[in-house]
Amino acid sequence: METEKKLIVDGIRVDGRKWDELRDIKMKVGVLKNAEGSASLEWGKNKVIAGVYGPREVIPRFEEDSTKAILKCEYNMAPFSVEDRKRPGPDRRSVEISKVITEALSSVVLAEEFPNTQINVYIEILRADAGTRIAGITAASLALADAGVPMKDLVAGCTTGKVDGEIVMDLCKEEDNYGDCDLPVAIIPKNKEIVLLQMDGILTKEEFNKAFDLVVDGAMKVYEMQKKALYEKYKDKED
Ligand code: ADP
Repeated sequence: METEKKLIVDGIRVDGRKWDELRDIKMKVGVLKNAEGSASLEWGKNKVIAGVYGPREVIPRFEEDSTKAILKCEYNMAPFSVEDRKRPGPDRRSVEISKVITEALSSVVLAEEFPNTQINVYIEILRADAGTRIAGITAASLALADAGVPMKDLVAGCTTGKVDGEIVMDLCKEEDNYGDCDLPVAIIPKNKEIVLLQMDGILTKEEFNKAFDLVVDGAMKVYEMQKKALYEKYKDKED
């Protein structure tokens, strides 16, 4: 579909990036004193904070599983995270995102080690500018690691998509709104197993393959940043 305004001009995107460039990403681990594990993340104009509690007692009790810990992830967008005030509290979108993030992180958490407990992961989106589910899962996986929850590996993610007919890395808000397709993906970097893949829009098989290779590439770069952020915290750990 032709949009009035071109989103890519002479190979340069609306925010000045090339087709395969990520936005600036900053991560910090251990940012909340009162959570057992936490991380903050700035991904372009997105701002996210994640906090983890547990393994701890299951409430309500009937949800207990004698074979493993239950993982509960809650994704929430703050009312001030978007241009017009967002109505506070859960909506269909945040319930869906909480569900897919829970499923994705369940693939790495070694829940069998903590039967009859729950692990709570809270993801707060303070500022949203497209790609918040991936920014959220990236911060959550760091917060889980910070809490000392045993995992097979971190989960790392990225988004690619199609804008003005071209496959591009890491869509910003304008590209997400007026582009043709977006493809958020999260993987277990160790073996590149896919733990989250959603697609909004249509791609040909060739386009999908290109977008998929690019998104894995992006996620692997994010993984390197995650490891660095964890190392930074424990490098100068105080008591
Ligand atoms: P993601 O943030 O994972 O890309 P979506 O594709 O659903 O998820 O949303 C894209 C962007 O649209 C969000 O990052 C946010 O900037 C904006 N957005 C989502 N929900 C709302 C809302 N209820 N009100 C205003 N903007 C929203």
